[in-house]
Amino acid sequence: MTNIKKIAVLTSGGDAPGMNAAIRSVVRTSVYHNIEVLGVYRGYQGMIENDFTPLDARSVRNLINRGGTFLKSARSKDFRTPEGRKKAYENLVAAGADALVVIGGDGSFTGALLFNQEFGFPVMGIPGTIDNDIYGTTYTLGYDTALNTVVEAIDKIRDTASSHNRMFFIEVMGRDAGFLALNSGIGGGAEKILIPEQHSTLEELVSEIEINHNKGKMSNIIVVAEGDTTGKNVFELKKYVEKQNPDYDIRVTVLGHIQRGGAPTCFDRVLASRMGVKAVESLLEGKSNYMVGINNDKIDLTPLEKAIKGGESKLDPDLIRIAEIMSI
Ligand code: ATP
Repeated sequence: MTNIKKIAVLTSGGDAPGMNAAIRSVVRTSVYHNIEVLGVYRGYQGMIENDFTPLDARSVRNLINRGGTFLKSARSKDFRTPEGRKKAYENLVAAGADALVVIGGDGSFTGALLFNQEFGFPVMGIPGTIDNDIYGTTYTLGYDTALNTVVEAIDKIRDTASSHNRMFFIEVMGRDAGFLALNSGIGGGAEKILIPEQHSTLEELVSEIEINHNKGKMSNIIVVAEGDTTGKNVFELKKYVEKQNPDYDIRVTVLGHIQRGGAPTCFDRVLASRMGVKAVESLLEGKSNYMVGINNDKIDLTPLEKAIKGGESKLDPDLIRIAEIMSI
């Protein structure tokens, strides 16, 4: 065991459902082990601006069911500078913290790793992002909730699409990764799914739509990840397909930020609780520079460096095949 007496916790980067549940878990696990907790508001910027609050087991009541993050999140330019990080370190030490849990994405982990390298300050990461694009964990916090939000939206759009024989392009989040698009597309019964990991052309898209039409499919749901490169964006896809087939009634829905909000699913709440316990207990065992993840339903640790640099995409190619089979 180490002599850590106070753990600081912050949320950074894009918010994700389940972040509150993770903060709650970090706080309650620390209290359970007689460790004090310092909440940091607004991510790294709050560390630089001394925006701290003491947290105890009761300060995190009624939080497990709430989306977003009550500690607020931020993107901090100052933390990218050595001066900013030095100030953050001095403030943390002055506040008595001797370890830090960072809940965020790979950018936040890059900052955490630098912070450790520069000051030897123990850090532990918890992956929180709806995109699920972090190496070293099968699931990130918020992904399952976002997935269910998207499927619910697709179901609703399908009702109107089939009532009017319309085609819908539905844009979902995922600038670099197609997890949300691929899984929500399968779950929502999409006729076609476009993801950044699999390039297709506008001509191929039109010909597939044509084939579907000839098969008697009157409505079409096409799920498009933000980062897909078939067209510049969903509006261009609509324009192109419309030009080739002026008879089609095509609509576009960009789901946008509703995908980030909402109460976390039970899966994300349990995952957050498990990850928070592991993060705190690993710090207390003297470990640092790791990200907590879930693999084969076991909570484990991946070096932050590996989580940041990534490896091969963890997107299962078999899912692409399943999506194709399901849409015949
Ligand atoms: P999301 O997946 O939602 O984008 P993220 O954690 O990757 O989450 P970023 O905006 O990339 O989000 O990073 C969050 C914060 O982490 C940045 O605003 C910055 O303060 C810090 N950070 C990111 N990259 C670095 C870096 N190279 N050096 C120092 N700090 C960094």
